[in-house]
Amino acid sequence: MADRAQEKITVSVLACKDCGAPMYPDMKKGGMSCACCGHFVRFAPTDKEFTPQMTYRHQPLQFVDGFLKLGHVAIMDKDALNPPPPAERKMRRTRLDEKIRACDADALDAINDEAYLEMNCPHCGKKLTPKLTDNIFTCPYCGQKFGDFDRLSTGDFDATLIVGRKYNFFGKCLPFHLHREEAAQAVAALRRRHANDFADDNIEERAKEELVAAYVPVQLSDFRWKMQVKSERGTFWFYQECLNWAWTRTLMFDAYLLDELAPWDYSEISILKPAYLEGNVRLFASQNIGEWQAAISRFILQKKTPARLKSAFGLERCELLQVSLDLRKHKFAFLLLPIYFLDCKKDAKENGRQTRVMVNGQTGKAAALIMDESNNDIIRAVEPATPYVFAKGGERTMFSPPMPVKYIKQPFLHQRLRIEEALETPSGIGGFFSKLFG
Ligand SMILES: [Zn+2]
Ligand SMILES: [Zn+2]
Repeated sequence: MADRAQEKITVSVLACKDCGAPMYPDMKKGGMSCACCGHFVRFAPTDKEFTPQMTYRHQPLQFVDGFLKLGHVAIMDKDALNPPPPAERKMRRTRLDEKIRACDADALDAINDEAYLEMNCPHCGKKLTPKLTDNIFTCPYCGQKFGDFDRLSTGDFDATLIVGRKYNFFGKCLPFHLHREEAAQAVAALRRRHANDFADDNIEERAKEELVAAYVPVQLSDFRWKMQVKSERGTFWFYQECLNWAWTRTLMFDAYLLDELAPWDYSEISILKPAYLEGNVRLFASQNIGEWQAAISRFILQKKTPARLKSAFGLERCELLQVSLDLRKHKFAFLLLPIYFLDCKKDAKENGRQTRVMVNGQTGKAAALIMDESNNDIIRAVEPATPYVFAKGGERTMFSPPMPVKYIKQPFLHQRLRIEEALETPSGIGGFFSKLFG
């Protein structure tokens, strides 16, 4: 909330000038509005105002002679079949605070600063103790909202709180729709639905205390792939795509877990003004993660493809034989996604069972990642109790079902098939016996 070097803080009330009711910051509208009479005040302009708007670069699938033209996924990527190095697992099992400490110890100190301000609520007179790291806080007695006057009038905020390099902090975001309490309820629902998986870890209780709000940097891209897969029913090719895929730009959060929070509604992209964020939201800058950046997309495909093919075609065993992928980045497509995060237990063993939970701060979808003692990943998710309503015709995450295909002729023309038609039964003795007994 305030610069610790500054001794004097002028707290100002965010009350409506017309009717006196509390004003609510609204990132989407770029200002504060009165819930009672609709009075609206714009946020102070900041440099981020000049962040260029995103331009989508979708390339529609082409059809030639009734065939699908798949030239963009023609070249096989040998690296796509390399499993993640051991360092990846170690990193995924490291607690968020440890990762922040390694990357930006100053930010961790600022985040964990427990200093608070003692004051009487200027509205109802009751005693308040807001934390200095909060930008805007609410009086629990009368519901009135307050903030640091200087910050509210200039839009400035304490940049020490940003994890990573400040100039790599993105200017665009999706606004939070969920309050912390609602996110904690989503975690509770997840636990009720999958009680057995969380037996030794009461995530519901932990969420009440430990759930943190965060803005995670991603880059939007159209992600499309073609794969050859060997299954218990034969070998086949398929094509699949995820439009507006949120490609993580940080290793602070588990990429597989973050991926479970889709779909996102991108019709709501707005300029982030941290000075007007309510409560304590952790801010993460984009990290320069070198070779990991490209590798993440391959690791996610490796890990998620078997489950996707199982749910689409009922296949139990899938081995990836060949992969070709195409990542098409949209222009100025860097933005921050609103999430709530629950780390694994503080005393969780390094190689023991660890559970992490994430909630989509926009839609309320919750997902858990359990890494067990044998290093298997278990993913559990629940849709929000009240379904989020996506903007009609707006940009959002779009995930196509896997589409079995067969190459027909140049240029890169493929026929769409049903799975039964696409399966090539194995040749040789195995094939002979599977025909006899299968
Ligand atoms: Zn009003
Ligand atoms: Zn009050």
